[in-house]
Amino acid sequence: MKLIPADTQRRISRRPAVIIGAAGVLIALVLAAIFFVFRPDSRDSGSTMPNIILLSIDTLRADHLGCYGYDRETSPNIDAFAADAVLFENAYSQAPFTAPAHMSLFTGLTPAVHRVANFDKTGLRKLDPRIVTFPAMLKERGWLTVGLHAGGMMSPEFGFDRGFDLYSEKLISYNWHRAYEDPKDLNVIRRLLETSRRDSRPLFLFLHHYVCHDPYMTAPESIRSRFLKNPVPGLSKGLPDDERNRILKGFEAAPGGNGLERLSGQRVLRSTFAKEFWKGVDLSRPDHRRHIVDLYDAGVYFADALFGKLLSILREDGSLDDSIIIVMSDHGEEFFEHGGKTHWQLFVETLHVPLIVKLPSRYAQSLQGRVARDVRTVDLFVTLFDLLGLPIDHQIQGESFLSLMKNNGRRYAPLVVSYDNALRSVRFIKDDFVYSDFMSHGVGEWLFSRPNDPAEQRNLAPSMGIVLETMRAIASDVRLGDSSFSASVGTSSARPTDKPSESLLRQLRALGYLE
Ligand SMILES: [Zn+2]
Repeated sequence: MKLIPADTQRRISRRPAVIIGAAGVLIALVLAAIFFVFRPDSRDSGSTMPNIILLSIDTLRADHLGCYGYDRETSPNIDAFAADAVLFENAYSQAPFTAPAHMSLFTGLTPAVHRVANFDKTGLRKLDPRIVTFPAMLKERGWLTVGLHAGGMMSPEFGFDRGFDLYSEKLISYNWHRAYEDPKDLNVIRRLLETSRRDSRPLFLFLHHYVCHDPYMTAPESIRSRFLKNPVPGLSKGLPDDERNRILKGFEAAPGGNGLERLSGQRVLRSTFAKEFWKGVDLSRPDHRRHIVDLYDAGVYFADALFGKLLSILREDGSLDDSIIIVMSDHGEEFFEHGGKTHWQLFVETLHVPLIVKLPSRYAQSLQGRVARDVRTVDLFVTLFDLLGLPIDHQIQGESFLSLMKNNGRRYAPLVVSYDNALRSVRFIKDDFVYSDFMSHGVGEWLFSRPNDPAEQRNLAPSMGIVLETMRAIASDVRLGDSSFSASVGTSSARPTDKPSESLLRQLRALGYLE
């Protein structure tokens, strides 16, 4: 794993007093690097620009938050924050998978163009070096760019570290579980805010964790028991806190030196634990569904409490009012609405995500409180650049939805397109219909009426032949459009996956993914 960018490492290596040793020393070293090495240089001055704090709460369904209409108190902090911000009621992710969804966010490109996918036995699909990320564009314009993530599918091996001064999974505990009891675990955020101020560089801070991800055991026992009132006998209730902490520490200490090895180690740990967690669960049974959703909601509540801690830090620092603060998720989660669990199918429950944006008062004139129109997460950074008056000199597919925030009438109505991990299936929203050619339970085509069936339960494909024909033609256009965009960016749309390296194949074999 790369904690410090190579050029910084070179500069640090000339410091004779610095000796890289145990993990604690390494963290101290990174903090020292933040303080002493990241100096402003001859790049454009960004000193009048605001901080951008972007929190991605992995696997957070929009409709499980109070401010999105949930009837359970899962999100007091996010709800209060949303009351002062712009809430997008209908924001959609471009993929129900962590890596492609986040990469669309960071590049303004659809998954079919950036071609980064979740790690599987076909190997690693890493971001093409010709693609320029938004963090890189912000860095170029003077921002101090820092990503504090929870590893896994967000590992730097996918290219997620591109454009970050610092991209680390070490500086906050995995899933922030220590931060709940000991706010000192988030001290790094205070230090980053101080450093950006001292150097007159605005801060772009990307934060990410897996608190809501399955297995739903990350919340402390006290929160889980509050939500899980009637556990189904025989099903897992998660673990007692001490054992939970031991497992979470295991994730942090997952074996291996580089990110890929750690990713593999985490996958093994996760799958072992997840298997245990899901044992005996039959989501077709309402009582089992209730049990599982209760535990998921406990995770949402925990994520909300952690967000509250982040807000406290920003408030204490005096940065709350002058920063752009964004809360969102990369995808939702399914609880058997379409016969599945976790997140892999292309339906509303896996793609509808929260998106809440709070702007500093100097930008917040005549903003809408809630935006009902559809927006895509691939357009978020384009919108921020539009807001800040920053041109984008690279080819992207994203479009600014600033006009929706300001209700100034400029047109924003792109097709809301999403892909599966293998790019075999596409889904899009067109006017009153949702179409996808996703194969699930023997059905290969889906057509839903949005006004009549927002939960996407009645497939109209067999009965609406004429609409279906139109949708098929649009699907074909979407694929052709992405394919020709890939060609113009220089990434080949024909390339199925990168060939895995010999060492990766060895790791996969050792881990049992390959024969
Ligand atoms: Zn995710």
